[in-house]
Amino acid sequence: MFVSNNLAVNEKGHLTFGGLDTVDLAVQYGTPLYLIDEDMVRDHCRQYKQSIEEYYDGKGLVCYASKALSCKEIYRIMKSEGCGVDTVSIGEIYTSLSAGFPARDMVFHGNNKTEEALSFALEHGVGRIVVDNLTELKKLNRLAGEAGKKPTILLRVKPGVDAHTHSFIRTGQIDSKFGFAIETGEALEAAVEAAKMEHINLVGAHCHIGSQIFDIDPFKLAAEVMLGYMKDVHEKTGVVLTELNLGGGFGIKYTEEDAPVPYADYMKQISDVVKQKAAEYGLPVPFILIEPGRSIVGPAGITVYTVGTRKEIPNIRNYVSVDGGMCDNPRYALYQSKYDAVLANKADQPKDDVVTIAGECCESGDLLGENVPLQHAESGDILAVLATGAYNYSMSSNYNRNMKPAIVAVSQGESRVIVKRETLDDLIRNDI
Ligand SMILES: *Cc1c(COP(=O)(O)O)cnc(C)c1O
Repeated sequence: MFVSNNLAVNEKGHLTFGGLDTVDLAVQYGTPLYLIDEDMVRDHCRQYKQSIEEYYDGKGLVCYASKALSCKEIYRIMKSEGCGVDTVSIGEIYTSLSAGFPARDMVFHGNNKTEEALSFALEHGVGRIVVDNLTELKKLNRLAGEAGKKPTILLRVKPGVDAHTHSFIRTGQIDSKFGFAIETGEALEAAVEAAKMEHINLVGAHCHIGSQIFDIDPFKLAAEVMLGYMKDVHEKTGVVLTELNLGGGFGIKYTEEDAPVPYADYMKQISDVVKQKAAEYGLPVPFILIEPGRSIVGPAGITVYTVGTRKEIPNIRNYVSVDGGMCDNPRYALYQSKYDAVLANKADQPKDDVVTIAGECCESGDLLGENVPLQHAESGDILAVLATGAYNYSMSSNYNRNMKPAIVAVSQGESRVIVKRETLDDLIRNDI
């Protein structure tokens, strides 16, 4: 009935989330409000870890891609689950450090890392830096030399497999701002350069082929290409790359149209490819890293809003406006991403209406969905948008000087604030 199995309807006809009444949570904490199911987040981490145990002899690390949802508590949860984390900015590194997350289990990404950020990563001992380009490689070697450090690095490679949702293409795909292309020889050249550098410890290669992917084939193809690259690096430089980072991108269920693959299936098939190719090329079986972001937190979150106005435009559409919108979830405005919605206080009623859900910003494109099936909405109803755990809070803004909602975590039948709601004073804090 719902896209996540932590959602249900109680005897009052209200939507429940992790067993708690979402209408009560809306009253207690106010709206708009992000809810995150901590137990489900932890369960996803464990499923990924178990699949590595089962199919890859535990020779791997699950690195949560924290750009999907970054706040101190999520790093504490990842630490307690024994996961690594991906970071893509000095801000994410800082947030995770301030939550007590160990730097050695961080991976630092980015196509344009500043000197300040690289120095910060070196100073705090970030475990792996994924180097994106030659300028960065040289800069890092110099900064590491100056700091008396020798960072462990992986090279970001474009494997020439580009996948999104239900389609993938194998092309030259050299038109990406991320990484070194294999086709042009620059990826091999980068390994040659890195191997010569005194202050760099080159250990592996990284790729990330897209997001919200439902097929295992593109991942297998990418793994195959990456092993081929590792073979070439070995032949050309003598360096044996011992780590392979296969990125994230596993799809989740936003609406009934989406059919995600079980994690275990993915790991089983990938490990077969990796082991087989390693044997074929006479290379050691590499330590693997995977970087799920969306699939760890996405299905574990919902957002609840209060319905303000309803506007019926005959023969055109019905607008239902809520007290949030593109400020807390810009994904429809950015990509026309589809979401399921439910009226939390009328969850037992049929969805006999089709509406456009509008936000409160001064922007016609400020929508959370069009042609969304919904119960009949009236002013004062509580509307829940489902599967908003990833790329919502982390992409939120203060446009129109809206205040960012609180995040409330739900676990074992209890709720607690993990990110406070912004106040008016927060909005003017940096204004002179
Ligand atoms: C965004 C990103 C991820 C996570 O992608 P998801 O689709 O959220 O799983 C992992 N690795 C890298 C390098 C990324 O840029």
